[in-house]
Amino acid sequence: MTPQPYAYQRRELVEPDWTRLPGWRDVTREQWENAQWQRVHCVKNIKQLRDVLGDLVDERFYTDLETDQAHLATMSMLIPPQMINTMVPDRQPDTDTFYTDPVRRYMLPVASDRRTDWPSHPYSTRDSLHEHDMWVAEGLTHRYPTKVLAELLPTCPQYCGHCTRMDLVGNSTPTVDKLKLTLKPADRYDAMLTYLRTHPGVRDVVVSGGDVANVPWRQLENFLTRMLDIDTVRDIRLATKALMGLPQHWLQPDVVDGLGRIAAIANTRGVNLAIHTHVNHAQSLTPLVAKAARTALDVGVRDVRNQGVLMRGVNATSTDLLDLCFALQGEAGILPYYFYMCDMIPNAEHWRVAVWQAQQLQHDIMGYLPGYATPRIVCDVPFVGKRWVHMVTEYDRERGISYWTKNYRTSIETDDADALARTYPYYDPIDTLPESGRKWWAKEQANEAATG
Ligand code: SF4
Repeated sequence: MTPQPYAYQRRELVEPDWTRLPGWRDVTREQWENAQWQRVHCVKNIKQLRDVLGDLVDERFYTDLETDQAHLATMSMLIPPQMINTMVPDRQPDTDTFYTDPVRRYMLPVASDRRTDWPSHPYSTRDSLHEHDMWVAEGLTHRYPTKVLAELLPTCPQYCGHCTRMDLVGNSTPTVDKLKLTLKPADRYDAMLTYLRTHPGVRDVVVSGGDVANVPWRQLENFLTRMLDIDTVRDIRLATKALMGLPQHWLQPDVVDGLGRIAAIANTRGVNLAIHTHVNHAQSLTPLVAKAARTALDVGVRDVRNQGVLMRGVNATSTDLLDLCFALQGEAGILPYYFYMCDMIPNAEHWRVAVWQAQQLQHDIMGYLPGYATPRIVCDVPFVGKRWVHMVTEYDRERGISYWTKNYRTSIETDDADALARTYPYYDPIDTLPESGRKWWAKEQANEAATG
């Protein structure tokens, strides 16, 4: 019999043995499951990484990492032990397995991962989605007609190398001086709530950051309780990668109790309260992550959904995507919802995939998962918003330029009569183009340099 392109096999989740790593040889389960222990023992620099890995990884890797940190990284280093433990999860890592590990590739990028021909696309930008341009109050992006994004704070318990909010989130790096929020948190939250009260057409709020796991629980509960008093708000989604990166946070009794109180109010008022998390590889799903997701559902959160990011070297094969989706859906109680194409930020070309590759992946994952749990692969087109990858209007494959349209005005186009008649470009990574296309971009770049 001819085999199917993908062979489903149920795999139970396993918590990798953290004592295989020299620095955590003596760490007890009680310590491991303690959120505070996890936060205190996050890896924030190369010395701390050495303390964990010891001699398992040789000097070549650390030098490579140091070069990246000094010249290329757009995010500072911050990785909870929970996430480090999912790198090379089934044995002691060595240099080669650590280099090729998919979680390492995006959480701990090194200089040799990046492309040297086109490390950045010429049209890459710091705030590639122009979220800051669409702020209607500090941290509140109004892009879609009925939805807003509330960035409560600029920090997370973990920093991802490919973060689309690299402009704002995390500590400054040698190459990126981060934008700073200026209002006091209480004033920022007040301004956001005032906007929601005075704009009843906004019915859907993504409460994000950063990561809401870094907002002290009482502050977050207070903010959410006040938002639930606004009866025009009908959907609330809490964005937290920490559900996977630091599930210990979401299992703390005070957080679980508080989430239950918020879910009870939401249920009484008929508001859809969901958690959106960000898992990019099946390796990241462990029993603790599943426990955190199921606990949220048990206390009344309506849904826990995943929004992953599609990245070369991490998950951009149909097998990786399906393995992840089956683990999310079948083992962790998390709905596979979206995969975003990696945005056009600086130094990200080695991660990005071309639109045609994303279309092929969408094609290849159809039909295996339940329909409602088959994720959509989406392109977040600057000045447009999310588009399914097959919604492209025109596509110049030679130069890697796709053109997209939209059906609403963002908050900065309310007086722009032509906004809906225009097409908006998106760009494939140049290394994925045919030779003629690569030459065209090289010539463009040379002309640009010549004319200043
Ligand atoms: S958790 Fe989200 S906001 Fe935080 S660094 Fe990662 S991608 Fe960025």
